[in-house]
Amino acid sequence: MSLERTQVINFNSGPCALPTSVLEEAAKGLLNYKGTGIGLAELSHRSGYFGQIVNDLAGLIRTQLEVPPTHEVLFTQGGATGQFSAVVLNLLARHRLLYPELSEEERVMDYVVTGNWSKKASEEAGRLGGGVVNVVTDARTVSEDHKSFASIPPHTSFQFSKKPAFVYYCENETIDGVQFSTDPASPAAFPWESIKEEDFVPVVGDYSSSFLSRPIPDLARHALIYAGAQKNLGPAGLTVLIVRKDCLVDTDAAAKLGAQPVPITMDWKVIHANNSLYNTPPMFSMYVSQLVLEHAQAQGGMPAIKLMNERKKDILYDVLDEGAAKGLFRLRVEKASRSWMNQTFHVLGAGKEELFLEQADKAGLKALAGHRQVGGVRVSLYNAISEEQTEVLVSFIREFIKENAA
Ligand code: PMP
Repeated sequence: MSLERTQVINFNSGPCALPTSVLEEAAKGLLNYKGTGIGLAELSHRSGYFGQIVNDLAGLIRTQLEVPPTHEVLFTQGGATGQFSAVVLNLLARHRLLYPELSEEERVMDYVVTGNWSKKASEEAGRLGGGVVNVVTDARTVSEDHKSFASIPPHTSFQFSKKPAFVYYCENETIDGVQFSTDPASPAAFPWESIKEEDFVPVVGDYSSSFLSRPIPDLARHALIYAGAQKNLGPAGLTVLIVRKDCLVDTDAAAKLGAQPVPITMDWKVIHANNSLYNTPPMFSMYVSQLVLEHAQAQGGMPAIKLMNERKKDILYDVLDEGAAKGLFRLRVEKASRSWMNQTFHVLGAGKEELFLEQADKAGLKALAGHRQVGGVRVSLYNAISEEQTEVLVSFIREFIKENAA
């Protein structure tokens, strides 16, 4: 069966849906960029045309997220997973330059583990070595079954080390659907009160799964915010870094003092010194990302997109709560830590989950199966999913509850 775009709603978790109008324009540029007779992917990355895309894209991110002048916007490859490694290498190099006399045991990397992505990042830090990993909190210890990630634990359980080389957290855990609260007064907010400004400890946030879905609170307090492009920004292949200038360090000088050498493509200072063009960048992904951000700007930018995303997740959680109250659904995540972008739940009763996914698929509601690691159902409401499309899903779920709840 061959389907048209208009016949389906794509709830993929990333790569995910992108705006149709943007893809139509990108398709034109892929064939003939700005009347040059040459397609975007066939131009030189050193051309003025592409230099303009790099600058415009950085400018759009700066404007939309209100990036302060203390921070640089950089582009690289290797995905978010590449940064799991780059964070360790660059920030341990920084630490080495600041404190050359410390032993490896005294170079501590603090990881806040609230889901499968921050867990993976902490494991990579352990694998690379050069310092020791301190797990500040492991959210599994406070979940009912001690196996799943279901909430952001209370701040009192966070065990930060004294002066770590950095503190690392993941803002929204796509696989699990756990998110730090956007309300700073919530116990599920990031515990900024534990980070002493005067210690100048770099705080790193993996924003891959919520990037550009709303403004980033406390952006200026972070040393690094990074994200893979493949959710709200554009096609996979591009990784965006928003990095505070003091974290762009001479890693070769650090290596002379005993730090691990940093592969040149992972070296943030080198990326910056070359205006993100040290080597050939993911040109098509950057081009589409620029178009996506122009589209977002026309929609009213981050404040308008935040409101839209808030309304979308509210109507979805309302119907999921209704199903849970009737004993048909079990939501995986506690209320205060629920993700705006990724809603995860189980359909209870023999064969009901399979039935839900099968009927949804037939209705054109695609890609709703949960991540292979955790199963269940996962909805992803990235920016390109409209409110009307969310309402279609909500109506489907309401109907399913009517037919299947006892
Ligand atoms: N971190 C988070 C929060 C993610 O959602 C993902 C998946 N997109 C990753 C890291 C891994 O990203 P990548 O596949 O780009 O390495």
